[in-house]
Amino acid sequence: HGQVALKQAKKSGRIEIYQPGELAHARRGLRMETELRQAIDNGEIRFDFQPLVELRSGRVAGFEALARWSHPERGAIQPADFIPVAEESGLILPLGQLAIDTALRTLADWDRQAGSTLPVYISVNVSPVQLARESVATVVSDALARHGIDGSRLTLEVTESSIIADPDRAARLLGELKAHSCRIAMDDFGTGYSSLASLQKLPIDVLKIDRQFVAAMHDDRDSTAIVRAILAMASALGMKTIAEGIEDQSAANLLDVLGCDIGQGFWFARAIQADAAFAFLQQHGFKRAA
Ligand code: C2E
Ligand code: MG
Ligand code: MG
Ligand code: MG
Repeated sequence: HGQVALKQAKKSGRIEIYQPGELAHARRGLRMETELRQAIDNGEIRFDFQPLVELRSGRVAGFEALARWSHPERGAIQPADFIPVAEESGLILPLGQLAIDTALRTLADWDRQAGSTLPVYISVNVSPVQLARESVATVVSDALARHGIDGSRLTLEVTESSIIADPDRAARLLGELKAHSCRIAMDDFGTGYSSLASLQKLPIDVLKIDRQFVAAMHDDRDSTAIVRAILAMASALGMKTIAEGIEDQSAANLLDVLGCDIGQGFWFARAIQADAAFAFLQQHGFKRAA
């Protein structure tokens, strides 16, 4: 019918029929899925670590593990491009397990190099798909045991979309993780549609204020007001706060004055390889236990 287009595929010379746009999109996704599967198997996915810096003292409290894919031909592929493919295909399950395993192995490596148990944690992103489809608590407890790391040194970052569908179920799953002493952070806070009521029911330890509010604070009084309100709410609920996307000193200073605990952003450091992150830790010092 009219919607169907005929295409002479340039490379293969085969004739292909598809809805305009649709199949091309699906094929790109499918090719990326195949390549991503191979990349996970071949160790082409690595994790870099971005420092989380205590604003008051300038010491390192921890790091966020961020997935990096260097494609042999196409170079660096951004998480914004491959994480959605991983989520749609289910590859986020092995990728997510790799993230948790790598984070804990890295902490064990650092402890070994330092000759002591360092008071730093690593924060790992957990996709809504992982929460919906596997027992993340089992994955976590296996990895903690394998690497001999205490659960208190692992933070799991979840998003508002993980909880809105079924807040009661989310509360139960997060409770299982808390039973292993892990901390829970709400990522990109302010961009989703979770209600304050559902937030209050969940065992959230840390609120991460989304970069969009932090970036806009400079020239936008409303954004500063929103940041203030989020900080006040977090404090009232007994949560720690992290501001994402701090790109200059004035943002770092303002957030400190407003009472935000921790900063993350290019002003301090980008996500860097594990060795560089360990060097950063030695250079800037870790936050001493209070
Ligand atoms: P996110 O969890 O909110 O991670 C923070 C993102 O902000 C990272 O982007 C980081 O590089 C970027 N960022 C940090 N500071 C600054 C700054 O000062 N300025 C700007 N412009 N950006 C900054 P990245 O690494 O590209 O990751 C994007 C998103 O992909 C992450 O957002 C997270 O949602 C997802 N992601 C990354 N790795 C994983 C993973 O292992 N598992 C899952 N499920 N998602 C992941
Ligand atoms: Mg995150
Ligand atoms: Mg975030
Ligand atoms: Mg963000």
